[in-house]
Amino acid sequence: MPAQNVPQIRHYVDGEFVATAHAFADRSPVDGRLVANVCEADEATVDRAVQAARRALAGPWGQLDVQQRAAVLHRIADGIEARFDDFVAAEVGDTGRPLAQARSLDVARAITNFRTFADLAKTANTELFETPTADGAGALNYTVRKPVGVVGIISPWNLPLLLLTWKVAPALACGNTVVAKPSEETPASAALLAEVIHAAGVPAGVFNLVHGFGGGSAGEFLTRHPDIDAITFTGESKTGSTIMRAVSDGVKEISFELGGKNAAVVFADADFDAAVAGVLRSSFTNAGQVCLCSERVFVERPIFDAFVAALKARADAWRIGYPDDAEVDMGPLISQGHREKVLSYFRLAVEEGATVVSGGTVPVFGDARDHGAYVRPTIWTGLPDHARCVTEEIFGPVCHIAPFDREDEVIARVNDSAYGLACALWTTNLARAHRVARQIRVGLTWVNTWYLRDLRTPFGGVGLSGLGREGGRHSLDFYSEVANICIKL
Ligand code: NAD
Repeated sequence: MPAQNVPQIRHYVDGEFVATAHAFADRSPVDGRLVANVCEADEATVDRAVQAARRALAGPWGQLDVQQRAAVLHRIADGIEARFDDFVAAEVGDTGRPLAQARSLDVARAITNFRTFADLAKTANTELFETPTADGAGALNYTVRKPVGVVGIISPWNLPLLLLTWKVAPALACGNTVVAKPSEETPASAALLAEVIHAAGVPAGVFNLVHGFGGGSAGEFLTRHPDIDAITFTGESKTGSTIMRAVSDGVKEISFELGGKNAAVVFADADFDAAVAGVLRSSFTNAGQVCLCSERVFVERPIFDAFVAALKARADAWRIGYPDDAEVDMGPLISQGHREKVLSYFRLAVEEGATVVSGGTVPVFGDARDHGAYVRPTIWTGLPDHARCVTEEIFGPVCHIAPFDREDEVIARVNDSAYGLACALWTTNLARAHRVARQIRVGLTWVNTWYLRDLRTPFGGVGLSGLGREGGRHSLDFYSEVANICIKL
């Protein structure tokens, strides 16, 4: 029975906020408190959303040119800016992350996503070829960009608003209509986004939002719907496989941003303090719940012991606590369920023979946070490369540090992974940086930094880490259908 006196989060379908009979609880991972009751979409509600999106393609939205659509996107960005603190509160309520992070990263990036893709869409290029013909008059071949149609967007909980808007913005900029399903763990900021889009005067049906779970719920209803033209998904690799099977009958366009087991490589010539600070950030930011986080750290042997000691000192001092405490570095994991998974890896690491250098435990606060989903930042050494804790994505504040001796050796060890999303290299040798970066089998390599993003650049992974690229013109290509027109002169 849903509890009273907490907000109800509803769907947004065909320009209206609608409730469904069944609801589920949205709890804070800080202390287990109920923050909202969330309506779960049944198949009929998802169908209404998809049909509304299809009708909207043929309505006034379909008549707008790119300049007009860009203006709509800027209005949405203005709307998020005007309700900035509401978005921060929604994101923090669902995730428990430090307020400062929600302000500087999540909500700030949502605004940037809309503004960037509004401006980028205006630069979308097309092609033109002059083609000789037998009569000498010739022909012109040129391409036009059309919307793909109705785009289904399925997003995860780890950076809820950032990752949702990363897809909604380019989809709308290219003239598509959208049915979005945020994670069941983090529905609140998506619900606010629907309010902002509504207030921005976006025509009914252009943006629809349905809440619910994955298999047997809104996620599956959406991916199996025959009237969806494309699916863009961010989440776990095994969910990606399930979705791939679901969309195969309809041969729909797909873009997948999936899991990672990313490496950081620290060469002995690196700026030591910068590398320690960088790996601290890349392993423990957002409690390790960023797909780009480094869970495998390789350190060149001459500096291995010093590096492990320095990272341990920084991790031991990492402050865990309430989101509104300005001193706090890290909040809880997303849920008790996810903490159970992370704790199972803490136990497994010991069984596999790891040395626990730091953490590996649950902090005890003696207050409401003991009902939350906290763990300590954790560092292991001593595991072989094939250990499960070194090969499987854990998605928590955890890294394993291993020594290496040679450049070719570390490249082979980094590449010996089913995943291939990101890598961070730490070296002051420029030639080495170039040489190694191009040999690492990933979609994104950073040198002497981590998670420095320019939204014009391609984003995506290889292997189990994904399919396709988004970002910059790659997003414009995914969210547009390029059609060729041939005119005989
Ligand atoms: P998840 O796969 O469990 O869920 C993601 C979304 O998919 C949720 O909205 C969920 O309800 C939905 N879903 C689940 N099963 C479904 C099904 N059968 N059909 C349709 N929808 C379904 O992932 P998560 O736990 O929310 O997120 C964490 C994962 O996301 C990690 O593996 C992380 O690496 C990955 N991730 C990747 C990127 C990237 O850009 N590569 C970014 C962020 C997160």
